[in-house]
Amino acid sequence: MLAILNYPAKLTLKAFLGLIALVLSISTSHAQTAKRPNIIFIFSDDHAYQGIGAYGNKIVKTPNIDRIAREGALLTNNLVTNSICGPSRATLLTGKYSHLNGYKRNDRTKFDTSQTLLSETLRNNGYQTAWIGKMHLNSLPAGFDYWNVLPDQGHYYNPEFIGQPNDTTQYTGYVSDLITQFATGWLEKRDDSKPFFLIVGHKATHREWMPDLQDLGAYDNVNFPIPSTFYDDYKGRKAAADQDMTIDKTMRMKFDLKVGVDYEKDFLYNRLNAEQKKVFKAYYDKVSKEVTDKNLTGKALVEWKFQRYLRDYFSTANSLDRNIGKLLDYLDKSGLSKNTVVIYASDQGFYLGEHGWFDKRFIYEESLKTPFVIRYPGVIKPGTKVNDLVVNIDWAPTVLNIAGVKTPADMQGKSFLPLLKGTQTAQVPWRKEAYYHYYEFPQPHHVYPHFGLRTNRYKLVYFYQGADSWELYDLQKDPKEVSNIYGTKGTEKLTADLKIKLKALMNEYKDDEALKILATAKP
Ligand code: CA
Repeated sequence: MLAILNYPAKLTLKAFLGLIALVLSISTSHAQTAKRPNIIFIFSDDHAYQGIGAYGNKIVKTPNIDRIAREGALLTNNLVTNSICGPSRATLLTGKYSHLNGYKRNDRTKFDTSQTLLSETLRNNGYQTAWIGKMHLNSLPAGFDYWNVLPDQGHYYNPEFIGQPNDTTQYTGYVSDLITQFATGWLEKRDDSKPFFLIVGHKATHREWMPDLQDLGAYDNVNFPIPSTFYDDYKGRKAAADQDMTIDKTMRMKFDLKVGVDYEKDFLYNRLNAEQKKVFKAYYDKVSKEVTDKNLTGKALVEWKFQRYLRDYFSTANSLDRNIGKLLDYLDKSGLSKNTVVIYASDQGFYLGEHGWFDKRFIYEESLKTPFVIRYPGVIKPGTKVNDLVVNIDWAPTVLNIAGVKTPADMQGKSFLPLLKGTQTAQVPWRKEAYYHYYEFPQPHHVYPHFGLRTNRYKLVYFYQGADSWELYDLQKDPKEVSNIYGTKGTEKLTADLKIKLKALMNEYKDDEALKILATAKP
């Protein structure tokens, strides 16, 4: 400052005032930039909302996800457009339905990175961007300044990561810990002159649910209640009857439930080091012995499988939640919490024994809805609940809105920040119907392709391939969706109205393929 004050000897007064103005304007613009919040999007895989404390589960412990919800907002009706992994990630990045972003199935489709991306848009607007952990889009991250991602599904133990520019390194340890370690490592070394957008992609709680060693047996003393639809007879629902995703018939004793594993030969386990194998084997040998000794059959065996499934699933979720806690602690200690938005979401919902199933795909509630909690200090009131129909096409526009960036024209969702802040007015009504379209068939899990809509009360579905059948549910009277009332007396007007709305949604979202199918659908 002294240097500047001494300088005017050689400057005119006008030039000096101009210099002062310039200094002030630089510091003002710096202050404005500094005000733009950082955004962390923690994105897990297959983590069911009904398995989270904040969503009402009284048995399992998810204190850190619950903390985000308590300190911010929880969405009770966050729906996905297409309930599988890759398509949900593609929708997060593009804000578009699968038929427009090109990623309809979890197959070997390469994600088209030439379209407008959330990452690129944020980067073009001054954000530093990073994706760390699971991505699984058959392409390297695009629009990210930094990335370190799992190849494909990745492994729970001693996973490989693909770092920049494209080299694969194997690390020793458990995947959720490593992802957190890499995320905080990047936060340490990032360019702190810019706000950041960081996606922390978790592998948990994807099949085959391999818990961290310290979490083995965490739920062994719990007897999980059997869902009321566990023994569903699928009456009046052909697609539900024809799937291949039951705990009874589809869930595998060895690879899903770790019974009789050969730790030297089986590919998920022979990558464990000697110490990991020892602890893992000791635990699952006991499990294997138990089921062999009991010689279970029929209902007793199915219910044993159900208990083992949930014990592995929730033990795996323990590390996920603990690592979310580590990240929150890091934000607290580094002073970043105040100006960092933290979002936790799963790519879709999951069945925890409802209808006798595991997996996802169907438009039914457990897989259509996904958990979403968000903390935004000073903006979202702690304990906020949003019950409106939010769809995952809204995620990108919302993140952009938080960053002060306008939604690009080709994104199909809209920002729900006004819902989170409680400033959405009746003059600008929120959507009353949400559109869904699922494609992947026949394998895995043999779920017939279908489209449909969900309103606040009803759900209309058409399974256009395989089943060729309509379904209609009144969620108020039948929240478990076991009574298909399509074609029953008294539903004629309701059905006709919903079909008009369905067609309008297909037009709005430009799903031409669905419009053609609808035009020739059976009545
Ligand atoms: Ca998934």
